[in-house]
Amino acid sequence: MSGTAATVLPFAEGRALVEQHAASVAPTEAELADLARAGGRVLAEALVADRDFPPFPRSARDGYAVHAADLVRLPAKLRIIGESKAGAAPESIPAQVRRGEAVVIMTGAPAPAGADAVVMVEYTSRDSNTVAIQKSVAAGENIVPRGSEGRAGEVLLKRGQRLDAAGVAVAASVGKGSLFVHSSPRVAVLATGDEIVDAATQPGPNQIRNSNSYSLAAQVRAAGGLPVLLPISPDETEQLRRLIEQGLQADLLLLAGGVSMGKYDLVEQVLGELGAEFFFTGALIQPGRPVVFGRAREKYFFGLPGNPVSTMVTFELFARPMLEALGGAKPRRLAFFPVLLKKEIKVRPGLTRFLPGLLSGQFGELEVELAPWQGSGDIAGAARANCYVVVPPDRERITAGELVAVWPKS
Ligand code: AMP
Ligand code: MG
Repeated sequence: MSGTAATVLPFAEGRALVEQHAASVAPTEAELADLARAGGRVLAEALVADRDFPPFPRSARDGYAVHAADLVRLPAKLRIIGESKAGAAPESIPAQVRRGEAVVIMTGAPAPAGADAVVMVEYTSRDSNTVAIQKSVAAGENIVPRGSEGRAGEVLLKRGQRLDAAGVAVAASVGKGSLFVHSSPRVAVLATGDEIVDAATQPGPNQIRNSNSYSLAAQVRAAGGLPVLLPISPDETEQLRRLIEQGLQADLLLLAGGVSMGKYDLVEQVLGELGAEFFFTGALIQPGRPVVFGRAREKYFFGLPGNPVSTMVTFELFARPMLEALGGAKPRRLAFFPVLLKKEIKVRPGLTRFLPGLLSGQFGELEVELAPWQGSGDIAGAARANCYVVVPPDRERITAGELVAVWPKS
């Protein structure tokens, strides 16, 4: 589709369309990153086991390495023939444990040959060279077999994986002091509006400080991108065109404002004049209905509605998966969690709503209610919320005590 013919999609269809496009974008190049700073980056190389994991049968407990078959009748008395301590020289560990024998062993130490289980020290009492054991163990208990977590040569983490703390630990374990990650996609951020002035200035009586460029910068960074803030564009075609052209040189362009139906909402018009294709020009959601997704000069763009909460929500719902894909990552699943509703919700049906919510309670006893909120311009209300409550388009009323879908705030 090209031109600006309006296509307003249900939420799930809009999201699926973005994911489809995201699945075929070319990711950014690789760059070398120091492992101590690689958390949150996206792997541009697979992490391959350089040895077996664990490299030896590893004891999971402090206790005694034994033959499980020796503990059928209890208490069992075994002869202590030596010790296996984590990091000890291999020669110091008994080469073989025979029936009737036990080896003192520590967590993380290699189980000596012959032993097929470790009995926890809590179930034993030692008397110089013998140990009395009060509890039997199954063969294999408390020993992690060599190679059971990964074989030498096996891919432990694939390219495209975002490195969380566990991923960084895997990289360290396979000897990567530095590693190839995707470079961060450059994301141009263009706020529009005659009333919008820079955050650092004193606004006139009818002016509004630019918050969208900054909230988007924070979201872009959190999603692995590098925000490039363009100057604020007035609602005037020439300057808007010049700034959009500049923004289309980045890997992704995010516009905020100017996509509603008002007389001075010029974003779609100017993008259309630049030959843009539009994949959708609205979604049946609240907040954020006028959201636009398209491509111009071979770059994807999102026209996000200017109301600050709409800007934030539509970034997360639609722009984020594209940004993640450009950064070489598989887009993160958009996950909602069922939580008990504390106070009734009444809305008009027809839109999927993402309403600022307040989660309370502990652990498995969570409850949620709508946060006090004046609508999509209410930044302070949204900032005090700790989640969004997702109301499906077919619901008019959700009563207290029902399960509702909660989308954690990222
Ligand atoms: P628009 O989408 O341009 O119609 O703007 C919708 C509302 O969001 C208006 O109240 C704008 O003043 C406000 N708004 C637009 N852009 C920004 C921005 N960058 N920062 C803060 N508020 C904005
Ligand atoms: Mg505007």
